[in-house]
Amino acid sequence: MNHAAPPLDPVKLREDFPILSVRVGADPARGDEGVPLVYLDNAATTQRPRSVIQSLVNVYEQSYSNVHRGAHWLSGLSTAGYNAAREKVQEFVNAAHFEEIIFTRGTTEAINLVARSWGDRFCQAGDEIVLTELEHHANLVPWQQLAERVGVKLRTIPIDDRCQLDLEQFDKLLSPRTKLVSFTATSNVTGTITPVVEIIARARRVGAVTLVDAAQSAPHLPTDVRAWGADFVALSGHKMLGPSGIGALYGRRELLASMPPFLGGGGMIDRVWADHFTPGDLPYRFEAGTPAIAPAVGLGAAIDYLNYVGLDAIHAHEQLLTARAHELLADIPGVKIWGPPLEHKAGIVGFTLDGVHPNDIAEVLDQDGIAVRAGHHCAMPLHQRLGVEFTVRASFYFYNTLAEVEQFAKTVAHAQRLFRKR
Ligand code: PLP
Repeated sequence: MNHAAPPLDPVKLREDFPILSVRVGADPARGDEGVPLVYLDNAATTQRPRSVIQSLVNVYEQSYSNVHRGAHWLSGLSTAGYNAAREKVQEFVNAAHFEEIIFTRGTTEAINLVARSWGDRFCQAGDEIVLTELEHHANLVPWQQLAERVGVKLRTIPIDDRCQLDLEQFDKLLSPRTKLVSFTATSNVTGTITPVVEIIARARRVGAVTLVDAAQSAPHLPTDVRAWGADFVALSGHKMLGPSGIGALYGRRELLASMPPFLGGGGMIDRVWADHFTPGDLPYRFEAGTPAIAPAVGLGAAIDYLNYVGLDAIHAHEQLLTARAHELLADIPGVKIWGPPLEHKAGIVGFTLDGVHPNDIAEVLDQDGIAVRAGHHCAMPLHQRLGVEFTVRASFYFYNTLAEVEQFAKTVAHAQRLFRKR
């Protein structure tokens, strides 16, 4: 990571995000001006800059039609826009081929696609799939369902007390039976950044296929499928400034070509007879039905914006915010931050406060206009491992400021005093 990236100016960049100026709880009818929004729920979903919003308007006002099928001018324009968006994703993840990018609804659908298509075709009883204790349910339940269908066995790389993967234990789990290693690049609860290249290298030594859940890393750190050597990578548009309902699966071309379609219908076939069909070419074979045309274009615009800000600058800024949050929270009695040391961590601060329910903390923060999330964050097994039911999660992006982090910590301190008295 290049920490020499010039610092970004969050105050200036915020001007591109109309929603960041809304006032929480404003009710003009009652003369209530509300309070400024402090949006610290970016791991759940990020906000969109005007350029992304405008790209959707442009599609619907100027170029919208169905793609691939229409033999008319407008359809050609729409298809060109859709394909240009795929090229932007291809470049963003450094994939070698256009047809290695499949548009999906998001990370969840991308992983399900692999589990259903690759899993059902290539896995059998006795095979093993290695996951980690850090996983979001999106990278857990599809494999549990595959286990139910074909009898694969799930193995789990444990974390150590610093919420980092125990790679010695990983080595012990690997064997010729290991069919797949599927893991997150960044935990959505602890912010742990996992050693992607190292994990993939070890998995490849036993001939295992690899899948990287990049939902939490792609918005913040470079994604390089070729440098990683990954077979599959999944990401979500809405977590990286794009519209919801669009995401992508990168799949190595030879692997995708060997896989049967996931969903059947229009757009994914070569030919259809009354009793059978032949599948179409990549990537369309995995995109049955009318795709999310405008959201795909919006994802392309989001990638343009990310390139404009720069992922190195984004990561450096988030490290600044996270370090400040750690420093301030450490001064509050009873706060426990669940996560690795700062240098192994993204801009996600998952914490608990002794004797105070996470929902109560989130509520006090909300009254101050500060949006965080409290709960299990779709990672129940991880919370079981940590020995807590819920955590509070503050998650930062490049448009957050040090002042917002300070306000957040001040309100957590206020919550601590409030509940301690009760
Ligand atoms: N993986 C991780 C690590 C996540 O944080 C999330 C969402 O929070 C997902 C997968 C699922 O993403 P989506 O809901 O966009 O499919």
